[in-house]
Amino acid sequence: MAEKNKRRCSFCGRGENEVALLMTGMSGYICNDCVEQAHAILREEELIKKSDFDMKELPKPKEIKEFLDEYVIGQDEAKRALAVSVYNHYKRLMQRGAADDVEIEKSNIIMVGSTGTGKTLLARTIAKLLKVPFTIVDATVLTEAGYVGEDIESILTRLLQVADYKVEEAERGIVFIDEIDKIARKSDNPSITRDVSGEGVQQGLLKLLEGSIVNVPPQGGRKHPDQKMIPVNTRHILFICGGAFDGIEKKIAQRMNTHVVGYDSVQNSYKIDKGDMMQYITPQDLRSFGLIPEIVGRLPILTSLRPLDREALRNILTEPKNSIVKQYLKLMEMDGVKLSFDSSALDYIVDMAIEYKLGARGLRSIVETIMMEKMYEVPSSGAKSCRITKEYARKQVEKSLMTGAI
Ligand code: ADP
Repeated sequence: MAEKNKRRCSFCGRGENEVALLMTGMSGYICNDCVEQAHAILREEELIKKSDFDMKELPKPKEIKEFLDEYVIGQDEAKRALAVSVYNHYKRLMQRGAADDVEIEKSNIIMVGSTGTGKTLLARTIAKLLKVPFTIVDATVLTEAGYVGEDIESILTRLLQVADYKVEEAERGIVFIDEIDKIARKSDNPSITRDVSGEGVQQGLLKLLEGSIVNVPPQGGRKHPDQKMIPVNTRHILFICGGAFDGIEKKIAQRMNTHVVGYDSVQNSYKIDKGDMMQYITPQDLRSFGLIPEIVGRLPILTSLRPLDREALRNILTEPKNSIVKQYLKLMEMDGVKLSFDSSALDYIVDMAIEYKLGARGLRSIVETIMMEKMYEVPSSGAKSCRITKEYARKQVEKSLMTGAI
């Protein structure tokens, strides 16, 4: 025993019985903790080199937007904000580690727009061309530590997983937090309603947005209380938030009404579009909705998504690179069948989506309803073509309306 205690880590000096593992070298020992520490130092060193993107290879904001245009209809303002923000994120990463006295601060984004206007689609699309790890998380599952749900840190678990647990990679990643409005305080006045799942979660999130070292459970959740936490520095992680903020239009209208003396006169000179109040959103409105001022301050780029009009919905059916119509053409083509939709049938689909207030999300379910029977029959019918007329579309939709399928 005494002999055993003589073996000590040559770096930290701890004895063999004080460490989990002691490795033997030619003329000394090293313990598991010192190996890890040395590894961390190596990583740091490597980081500086790894951050060097080649500026010429990076897509410029205009190119990023053009790429987004291939998949997402409209929403130009949000696309531009995203493109610039991602591009600046790369620049900031390049600057990291360099001796420069102008430190570029990160500019997290918040995208506000009704459900089904393309927020998540934008995030998913931009992910395709990113050169850094990217993940989408849903804020609705987040709760304060101690409550049922997931801890804030679980946001970073996903990022770590995407980055194959390479911490240095995760530390330059981008996180899209969907449904951020769901963690808003439920009342303007915090003293009246203390909402456990609101403010506490926001305080936790603030820590991530501000940039701090967070201990992340590698497997996520709380199922593995013994798991070894991985420290992740969030300082350079870019956060993009999205939310529908249902009812915020009222707050915007209220503000415009009360803060501007003579609302009518302003309305006349600026022609306020009452049908789309979202475009006038300011950080102040996010605060009245229930986000704490510190969070709002950490999301300096605020952009809104437009409601989708008839023309946009019609374009969504056919224009995007992987539009729903193109997907069905492809499916049929694989059976050697040429599928076609009459223009009036497509108009009818859009009319239905509008009539039943299903928005862009509804387009898919309506097309699926219309196509189901054909998808079943055509492959074994020997047909070479398949035409969808308005009458056929209507018949299928009405049939499923009766059975409640739509
Ligand atoms: P949000 O996140 O705003 O609630 P999503 O991005 O999930 O909405 O949109 C739901 C679906 O509707 C998408 O998968 C896509 O098929 C369609 N969609 C919504 N907006 C657009 C758009 N601007 N361009 C193309 N498709 C869209």
